[in-house]
Amino acid sequence: MAAALETQAIIIGAGMSGLLAAIRMKQAGVDFAVLEKSLEVGGTWLDNCYPGSGCDVPSHLYSYSFAGNPHWSRLFARQPEILDYFRDQANRFQLRPHLCLGVEVASADWDEASARWTVTSTDGNRWRAPALIVATGQLNRPRTPDLPGRESFAGAQIHTARWHADTSIAGKRVGVIGTGASAIQIVPEIAGEAAHLTVFQRSPHWIIPRMDAPIPPAMKRLFATIPLLRKAFRALIWRRLEATHPAIAAPGGAKAREMEKMALDYLAATIPDPDLRQALTPDFPIGCKRTLVSDDYYPALVRDNVTLETRAIERIEPAGVRLTDGSLIELDTIVWATGFETHGFVAPIAINGPNGSLAQAWENGASAYRGTTIAGFPNLFLLYGPNTNLGHNSIIFMVERQMEYALPAILKVARGEARRIVVKPDAHEAYNRTLQARLATTSWAAGCGSWYKTDDGVMPNNWAGNTAEFARMMKRFDTEAYEIA
Ligand code: NAP
Repeated sequence: MAAALETQAIIIGAGMSGLLAAIRMKQAGVDFAVLEKSLEVGGTWLDNCYPGSGCDVPSHLYSYSFAGNPHWSRLFARQPEILDYFRDQANRFQLRPHLCLGVEVASADWDEASARWTVTSTDGNRWRAPALIVATGQLNRPRTPDLPGRESFAGAQIHTARWHADTSIAGKRVGVIGTGASAIQIVPEIAGEAAHLTVFQRSPHWIIPRMDAPIPPAMKRLFATIPLLRKAFRALIWRRLEATHPAIAAPGGAKAREMEKMALDYLAATIPDPDLRQALTPDFPIGCKRTLVSDDYYPALVRDNVTLETRAIERIEPAGVRLTDGSLIELDTIVWATGFETHGFVAPIAINGPNGSLAQAWENGASAYRGTTIAGFPNLFLLYGPNTNLGHNSIIFMVERQMEYALPAILKVARGEARRIVVKPDAHEAYNRTLQARLATTSWAAGCGSWYKTDDGVMPNNWAGNTAEFARMMKRFDTEAYEIA
């Protein structure tokens, strides 16, 4: 076996979080390698290139705080522009020499004697470092439900997160399965191209208007010449989104009622047919599933060539989708907008610590101390780890806070100033217990199915508070919660 490549820090993943970690390592003068299974950086923004893909957080906020972009073309930029942004950061911060692209990580093993992680790729190459940063994200493994007969379908089928440009849409009978954030973006884009589009809805989601618009050239010029103005705009967006958090924290409260009214008014204004409107009206509190933002999904549903199908799917057949009432919807193409495997976090990477595997440690659900460190796994740092996802604001804000929090510890072990830093089990457990108790009172717990919950009702994905509270918690690396040797 070839010798492992020695470095000071290994970063797994070159998406938004991994690039952030790489920038910080570069700035700190630490030697590091970024292992990325794709052939380019960008993570979710590389994967999700389906028509209409974009971010539902305004771009002036969904970007690094230290790398603002005055040139965003619209309030809510689309995937190609967001991907370009992350590629630009990789170039601007000279990360390319550190990137190992097309490298899929199979395992990470801790060696107590040397206090080093050895990371092995699926093709057998190895890297060794005292610090390991796992930045694989929460939404990178597409989920296609195992409906009976799926493989028998005679037409084309594709998941939104594995889109390719030659997918057969034009003039075809297309079925989109799912009505989440991905579905509501792709449906309006392909509705005009398909001969007929059937949207298979299992549950309606809450939708509020996106109010997207191009950013006028004069405003871009102002943002470019007066950075303070751009920063003020960013702060304003952050504040407005933060103000919606009570809808999640207090289901049924004033903010939730205000947002539900906004959504219902929008539904009434865009869907004249009362039966269709009824079919699109959620029966769970707003925020339980991710609240969607769109200006074009409802208008797409009233097109003559679009049908909203609310009858349940029984099976997939060669000719199309068979419903439980026996009818067959004939299709040429099925688009699975059915989301992601969201509870495995680092999966399928096998992480083996001094006392056993992470899979064992997470047998009853993934958890991490402050979303970032795990008892029993020294010198391991997660970005966008368990309980750092949000329903109301920018994940980049969260990951930047995680990075600030963990940086002193990462640098200590990377530079050999400490041999081993690991969170104490009681700190980890107490943190998770309190967090789960808080999550149980949020709208996420309020009687709907979503990717935020396991079958047992545990919520391993989301942070319970608002982002300001997270920022306060992450201000300082709390050494008292750690064993440091
Ligand atoms: P999702 O929110 O998990 O939605 C999956 C959809 O598939 C749901 O409508 C679900 O129905 C349906 N579904 C799943 N299994 C099904 C089955 N067996 N039969 C029928 N329908 C089925 O996935 P997503 O839309 O890809 O979004 C996932 C997350 O990605 C979002 O919440 C968001 O965090 C992120 N995202 C963000 C953006 C953005 O703009 N920033 C865009 C896309 C995605 P039920 O609702 O009944 O479960």
